[in-house]
Amino acid sequence: MRLLRAMVQRGSAQRPLQRALLQRALRRHTTWAPATAAVHADAALAATSHDGDVAPPIGLSTTFEDGSDHVYSRISAPTRHRCEAVLAALEGGDGARAVLFASGNAATHAVLASLAARNRERGRGRTRVSIDGIGYHGTRDAIAALGPAVEVVESADGLAEGDVVWLESPRNPDLRVPDVAKACAAPAAVVVDATFAPLAQEKLLDHVACVVHSATKGLGGHSDLLGGVAVTRDADLADRLAWYRTAAGAAPGSLDCWLLLRSLRTLDVRVARQGATAQRVAEALEVSGLLKRVLYPGLASHPDRAVAKRQMASFGSILAVECRSEAAAKALPGALSLFRSATSLGGVESLAEWRRKYDDAVSPDLVRLSIGLEDPDDLVGDLLGALRRLEEDAAFV
Ligand code: PLP
Repeated sequence: MRLLRAMVQRGSAQRPLQRALLQRALRRHTTWAPATAAVHADAALAATSHDGDVAPPIGLSTTFEDGSDHVYSRISAPTRHRCEAVLAALEGGDGARAVLFASGNAATHAVLASLAARNRERGRGRTRVSIDGIGYHGTRDAIAALGPAVEVVESADGLAEGDVVWLESPRNPDLRVPDVAKACAAPAAVVVDATFAPLAQEKLLDHVACVVHSATKGLGGHSDLLGGVAVTRDADLADRLAWYRTAAGAAPGSLDCWLLLRSLRTLDVRVARQGATAQRVAEALEVSGLLKRVLYPGLASHPDRAVAKRQMASFGSILAVECRSEAAAKALPGALSLFRSATSLGGVESLAEWRRKYDDAVSPDLVRLSIGLEDPDDLVGDLLGALRRLEEDAAFV
């Protein structure tokens, strides 16, 4: 929105038609549902690139002629701009700004570096960051890369203004759902990594300082791009993030931005379909009796069910299962035929992963499942068949 207003004020769209488009987008933007915003929130910016194109053009130029809205692509680029307009509309609505990065970890690093820099400038010294439980192991690496400017603490108790509560909702890989409203009652800034459930928690920015996503996952949705995004209504933080991206050279490439923009158009239907299939798979696995536990926020048995129902409009496409033994958990991904045995999540193809392989802190019985766009009955059949075969083999009991 700020971007659109700035364009109108700067008169960057010189011709009357372009100006009318910008004004129309300004008027309608706030009332659009996510499915509409995903397709149209960048419409005003289309007028500044290739006239007449319905699909976004692939703009790969790294440099721009004098008089353009862009100078050099490490600073800004047309397709990235369009993608950010859509992401801001989807995640934050009016007043939100989205800043895209080269990966989810780059976004995490930039948010914490920017908050820590602001803290230092305000004379508060070292920034403490609480991380709840296990979470994504790479986040700890991103924090470690910040050096002594940031200190990890295991509890949010005692954090002060300027410190950070880092939450994942739902949490990787055990699908626990933190109570975001409760966390926001404390003085520290709350940042939510919402990678596991894009579009499912739209009101997050009403409460928290910043929302981040690995766009490599559900936002991209096709396992073919690397990206990350931070969305905030804090104008100072957004400026710092944009500055940091330019200074650190953490900008995503234009081709990845184009793939992401294309993927965002179908995000709403992917989220709805993959979420419905995940619910069906979770229920079928739970009643099968072939597993110790199934963790999915859409199940009545989920330990954070009440929080999930309050906080989430839908429950995402990722679930975790606890197998009866470590041997069975290790063997399950390879015993499936439709699920590929691979890390990552949120794509159109279903994936299964023995998570302990990447993270020593995770239970050795846990397998993470990312549910794709295949037929639900086929996926259930694949899982139940593999679990039954493992159950019959004494080596896996
Ligand atoms: N956040 C979560 C919850 C993740 O699962 C991941 C990656 O798996 C990341 C952040 C980092 O994203 P990227 O791989 O795009 O850097």
